[in-house]
Amino acid sequence: MNRTFSLITALFILSCIGAINVCHAQQDATKSTIRDTTTIDQATLNSILKKNSQCYKQGKVANYIPELRKANAQSIALSVVNRDGNIVSAGDTQQKFTIQSISKIIALMIAVRENGEATIFDKMGYFGTEKPFNHFGNLETMGKPLNPMMNAGAILTTALIKGNGEEPFVKILKMIRFITNNEHIDYNHAVYNSERETGHRNRGMFYIMRNNGLIDGDGEEKLNNYFKQCSIEITVEDLAKIGYFFANHCVRYDGNKQYQDPNLSQLIQSQMLIAGMYEFSGEYARTVGLPSKSGVGGGITVSIPGKMGIGAFSPALDKHGNSLAGYRMILNLVRARHLSLFD
Ligand code: GLN
Repeated sequence: MNRTFSLITALFILSCIGAINVCHAQQDATKSTIRDTTTIDQATLNSILKKNSQCYKQGKVANYIPELRKANAQSIALSVVNRDGNIVSAGDTQQKFTIQSISKIIALMIAVRENGEATIFDKMGYFGTEKPFNHFGNLETMGKPLNPMMNAGAILTTALIKGNGEEPFVKILKMIRFITNNEHIDYNHAVYNSERETGHRNRGMFYIMRNNGLIDGDGEEKLNNYFKQCSIEITVEDLAKIGYFFANHCVRYDGNKQYQDPNLSQLIQSQMLIAGMYEFSGEYARTVGLPSKSGVGGGITVSIPGKMGIGAFSPALDKHGNSLAGYRMILNLVRARHLSLFD
């Protein structure tokens, strides 16, 4: 009698679980039909670009690096590498611009591969920030940089890449050429000279870190490598490919797995999420909700984990040093296609 009762109870419980699972499956099915996040088409990009083509009027092209002032404020472009590796782009897709701070994620990748994560993050923090990209107060208070996304941590990261003279820079250049599959990429000598001649604040950080024992060696070669990496010229499509690479375990858009490393892409994307847009990162996570990295050249790269890469370009910046139209275009795309991690 007792046995029969337990059997009936067990059957009842099992059928309830089954019903709940069916419910979940139905919900998931509805979700996936509404939220098609797999392919972005040309028409979507064209309309978003058009909608934001006048945004530049509210921003300002970076002028603290004299050579950057020459950028055409009206140029604008948007690019996506879809999940299957296909590329769709709109606007000034051939326009070259300097990568600037977006190079910091590539430098971090190389430095961690060579030294291990523990060695790098023994010398700097994993912290997010409420401070602008060129803030360096932590070198005094904490004795080390806040994170590898702000200038101080990025200058240190590049200084930790192995090799003499220009070698660390060449490694960064070659890695960008690999990720984008674009052998034509090089650095802009005029921008490099301009940064080197006027980058006294960066030079100040470099010397404090030498004084703190974080950077060794003589001269400024290690600092020059940082200036050179910032001066590398790319296009919006290159940015979308970089976003795709980190979104997909460091696998290239054409499927090349030479650098495949899920642990590394997780580290890089976590830094992009918490500090890639500097002091705007919190608000950006609230609105866009995706690992992204900006540069004062007007570029933004976005990684949609396990899925796509987005590149956006427009040189007029907001007060945080992030591309104004770039941010708006990304926001429009993310909202239209429910791409936020938190959606
Ligand atoms: N080269 C720039 C600098 O060091 C990079 C800053 C940035 O893109 N936010 O000031």
